[in-house]
Amino acid sequence: MSLPQFKLLRPRTLVEAVEFLAEYTRAGLGDFSTALRAGPPAQNEPAQTPRGPDGRERPSPHVPPVSVRVIAGGTDLIPSLRQRLFEPEFVLDLRGIAALRGIKPNPEGGVEIGALTTLRTIEKSDFLQQHYSVLTEAAASVASPVLRNMGTIGGNICLDTRCLWYNQSHTWRKGCGFCIKKDGDLCHVAPGGTKCWAAFSGDTPPALLCLDAEIEIVSRAGIRRLPLRDFYTGLGDTYRKLQADEIITRVFLPASSAGYSGVYRKLRVRGSIDYPLAGVAVVMKRSSNGRGAGHVADARIGITAVNPAPLLVKGASELLVGRAVNEALAEAAGNLAAKISKPLTTSTLTPEYRREMIRVFTKRAVLAAAQKADRN
Ligand SMILES: Cc1cc2nc3c(=O)[nH]c(=O)nc-3n(C[C@H](O)[C@H](O)[C@H](O)COP(=O)(O)OP(=O)(O)OC[C@H]3O[C@@H](n4cnc5c(N)ncnc54)[C@H](O)[C@@H]3O)c2cc1C
Ligand code: SF4
Repeated sequence: MSLPQFKLLRPRTLVEAVEFLAEYTRAGLGDFSTALRAGPPAQNEPAQTPRGPDGRERPSPHVPPVSVRVIAGGTDLIPSLRQRLFEPEFVLDLRGIAALRGIKPNPEGGVEIGALTTLRTIEKSDFLQQHYSVLTEAAASVASPVLRNMGTIGGNICLDTRCLWYNQSHTWRKGCGFCIKKDGDLCHVAPGGTKCWAAFSGDTPPALLCLDAEIEIVSRAGIRRLPLRDFYTGLGDTYRKLQADEIITRVFLPASSAGYSGVYRKLRVRGSIDYPLAGVAVVMKRSSNGRGAGHVADARIGITAVNPAPLLVKGASELLVGRAVNEALAEAAGNLAAKISKPLTTSTLTPEYRREMIRVFTKRAVLAAAQKADRN
């Protein structure tokens, strides 16, 4: 499959990139000028996503189609361009912006990771392995070494949602009458529905959610910092709160999330290369003194690939904290995670199996995290 024609923009600095995007972005122009008039949004204020008449977050039909796409490693975008899932007039290549690469521990604790940092660099970072091991484990599970050498953390956070009926060639999709996510108005997975259920299938976001990560987003309107848990919409089509003129520049991990034992477990068809069809991240700290020594002091569970967004499992901390980990407790955590998993027939494996594997992997990951915590 050939690439569609587009013009490549290659900025050397962030300022240049932001100016290019402001200049060439046509999608959401109305919102962008409103944002300019209103000035930079307050910190953590979610982006003003256009809404359809049904109240759903999606581009208004009156807004011209997206004409610029940002590219980082290109490992997700290039196949999508070949499949004509996007047909931008311009592609803005971030790779010339050196300032967006690197892992910088802060002297007062915590760390910032440039959005262009490759998954391989993250996987191999001694600092991250020592302090934020759930992230290195999740990064190491992505695709294959070649793809991790190219793929970036920013691209993994922004990864498009996936579905059997969507990640196909134009001819294939046309033969099926297209679907809501691209070019059509029906859903093959939930016929009769108006919602897209394509699954978010990135490996690092559940780990980042467990670590309380925040992201920095830059546009000509200014800089905003957003907790990652507020970045995803929960919809399969308009899955992220990012305007076409915005770039993710950095990921922040707080000092308070350092030192947790971390485990990531992933279901995929082949042992390598494949996207997750279910994924679970667990972080845990144990109490080391007092009457509750050995009990869970804090824990979080994140899941991916079974909903249109990666999610933190609500109630997991409350269930685990203050208790000693055993089979029954790990099983209860698995049941909690399975409860919020809502996979549909978006992949080659059945929804029932994927949901069951969330339960099983969560149980195993909780037991493994507890064992790791014992060794630390
Ligand atoms: C065969 C194959 C297997 C794969 N397996 C996995 C897997 O197992 N797990 C997994 O998580 N992923 C997998 N991937 C997807 C991909 O390799 C990774 O998710 C990678 O991290 C994407 O990063 P990238 O830099 O290549 O993104 P790109 O392809 O460059 O971009 C992806 C999306 O993010 C946007 N974007 C990128 N960076 C920024 C930024 N800084 N600011 C704003 N928007 C941005 C782009 O516009 C695009 O929409 C696989 C891909 C292939 C081809
Ligand atoms: S869930 Fe439905 S609308 Fe979304 S990509 Fe799949 S078939 Fe299309």
